[in-house]
Amino acid sequence: MERLGKNQGRYHGETIDIDKVQREIRAAAELHGWQSEIFYKSIGAELCGYHRTSRSAKQNVYLSSGIHGDEPAGPLAILELLRSNEWPEANLWLVPCVNPNGFRLNTRENAEGVDLNRDYRHQNSTEVRAQVEWLKRQPDFDLTLILHEDWESNGFYVYELNPNDRRSLAEDIVEAVREVCPIETAELVDNWECRAGIIRPQVDPTERPQWAESVWLIVNKTAQSYTLETPSDFSLESRVRAHLAAVRGALRSFLRK
Ligand SMILES: [Zn+2]
Repeated sequence: MERLGKNQGRYHGETIDIDKVQREIRAAAELHGWQSEIFYKSIGAELCGYHRTSRSAKQNVYLSSGIHGDEPAGPLAILELLRSNEWPEANLWLVPCVNPNGFRLNTRENAEGVDLNRDYRHQNSTEVRAQVEWLKRQPDFDLTLILHEDWESNGFYVYELNPNDRRSLAEDIVEAVREVCPIETAELVDNWECRAGIIRPQVDPTERPQWAESVWLIVNKTAQSYTLETPSDFSLESRVRAHLAAVRGALRSFLRK
């Protein structure tokens, strides 16, 4: 598998019709018994949260994607996960897209130029404020998986936040992806030390002026969080496959007795 070489200075790969993808996500979720709630509505943006619980499931898992509008593989992978409906025994929560305007512009930021994934500490954007209000109404999660892409990277990598040193899922996630996508070999990614495709930021949230969604989740909602990063200079189809492998690998590893 080769890089396409399109991403000069930013993401220049395939884009998606986010309204169509969101409609398809809604249809697949309804078909398979998910509850949905529109938690934010404005001109051109309708944000929706989903959940599906079962009486016998013991673990709560949250997935999110579509925070950066130039990262289309996440929402497409969520759509495929919903359509294939092959979930293990877990209670599931999902926010497939909080930045539809960013997708229309093919920009990382929202229409106001805000990087939503730096806005979870101060919550200046209406999108993040609304999502956080929705998240606060949900129970605590045991695991959160956040789907992103990196236009610069040469392979898949994963950020792990695991402050209580629970059994790590990172190696299992990387091994699951390795079959379908190259793994990042760089030892420094975005100034983080990266080993065999795994970044384990040792961060004190109180010392960080800006919070990503994963940091807000670790502070408020979950003990363990993984941010999955596919390399967006590869074909969109291969990145969707990488996300599917990563999510399924994470869930398999997490729910293993
Ligand atoms: Zn991103």
